[in-house]
Amino acid sequence: MISPRSQGFGVPHPLGLGFYNITMTNYAQHEHHDFPGASAQALANPVLQTALTRLTDTLLAGNRRGYAALADSSDLRDHAKRIKEHTLAHLDTYLEQLEASVQKLGGKVHWASDADEARRIVVEIAKAGKCKLAVKSKSMTSEEIHLNPALEQAGVEVAETDFGEYIIQLANERPSHLVAPAVHHTRESIARVMSEHLGELMADDPKSLAMKGREVLREKFRKADMGITGANFAVAETGTIVLVTNEGNGRLTTTCPRIHVAIMGIEKVIPRFEDLPTFLKLLARAATGQTLSVYSTIITGPRKPGELDGPDEFHLVLLDNGRSRVLATPFRESLQCIRCGACLNACPVYRRIGGHAYGGVYSGPIGSILTPLYDSVSENPHLPHVSSLCGACQAACPVKINIPHMLIGLRELQHHYKKNRWERWAYGLWAMALQQPWLYRLAQWGARFLLRRRATNGWINSMPGPGAKWTEQRDFPSPAAKSFRQRWDEISQ
Ligand code: SF4
Repeated sequence: MISPRSQGFGVPHPLGLGFYNITMTNYAQHEHHDFPGASAQALANPVLQTALTRLTDTLLAGNRRGYAALADSSDLRDHAKRIKEHTLAHLDTYLEQLEASVQKLGGKVHWASDADEARRIVVEIAKAGKCKLAVKSKSMTSEEIHLNPALEQAGVEVAETDFGEYIIQLANERPSHLVAPAVHHTRESIARVMSEHLGELMADDPKSLAMKGREVLREKFRKADMGITGANFAVAETGTIVLVTNEGNGRLTTTCPRIHVAIMGIEKVIPRFEDLPTFLKLLARAATGQTLSVYSTIITGPRKPGELDGPDEFHLVLLDNGRSRVLATPFRESLQCIRCGACLNACPVYRRIGGHAYGGVYSGPIGSILTPLYDSVSENPHLPHVSSLCGACQAACPVKINIPHMLIGLRELQHHYKKNRWERWAYGLWAMALQQPWLYRLAQWGARFLLRRRATNGWINSMPGPGAKWTEQRDFPSPAAKSFRQRWDEISQ
């Protein structure tokens, strides 16, 4: 995808990442490792730019309003962080407690070490239950394990029931935001997608689109054998699974079908029921600015004798998929994430390029950490650098995750493993200069002499050697005529 200018084709990348061919690759459909190509395409898409600005502005304003409305929001966020830190430090204990609590309620717990195993478990449950149709409420964990294709291959139709997920399922696309999966669509494009798939011409009026979606999905709920959800939280003490939604589809998914399967990352466990209000208060405020999400569904196992609603079977799939490996690294803090999406809305990079450019399931600042950790650092070399390190993500995060710190850690890791001899050579010279004051002064003098000759009006428009990449897209300030030391010496005399 990278095409040097010397070959005479390609356009300069808007973020200064060299020269790229703008291809018609649909990055919304497949996971990929082409951040430069995908981000260039996103930046050149005016419809996406408008949609992103509109949504992220609204959600970010909601986040700030939500925190400001709480007298003790900073203390509450610190408290939530302490709960997460404590839970992660005793994760094995709380997971075993959760398993015992769920079993006591009549549920079944399955441990999945990776995505393959998780898919296999869910497909086996579907086969054993002779399921033909599964309804799903929004679950990033199920996206992570690519569950839908596996079920469809096993002959189970899958219907996404969150409206945004429903649209992207029809369009055969991936979510582009943690809480607003169809952020890249406008009402016109939604009308187009629905018209194409439902065989009738839909007006681009939000109410009639929502009513049509409701009509189609009600029928799916009525016929479904299996309901699949994620879990926002799972309480170890009580075996309670908590789902937070704004559309009510989570409730229908967990009560109508005869089998309910909840898939959760192992980091979603919290110790006690009394910890739950802290997270419920913060999740909605951080994500959208709501005091509380419209539906907080609390599930305690399958239907009991005498109860009217609920499934005959309840299965909880506990997914590791790299999490326990991350737990033992300096990136453990990333496991505190409650997937509210606030860091995406606050990030100046996400706000311009949207979620599909990041390539993996998780996007935005937290995705720039999770994707390299769960997938591979070397396959995702750009992601740790997709940040200005401005700290807006941490300021918006309900558990104050130090995302910039971890991004720097990933950059260090990249350089630790990197075998680029030019870089090793440059850093070696730099280390030598820092240890020899005379050499440092000589290097400074040489750089000043050479660079000042190239400057016009205090700016260098084209740098030599590796610096050329920088000046392809922006100017470089000319060095000052005198060094700090020279000026210091002059005023101290
Ligand atoms: S890192 Fe923080 S702000 Fe970002 S999604 Fe996770 S909890 Fe929300």
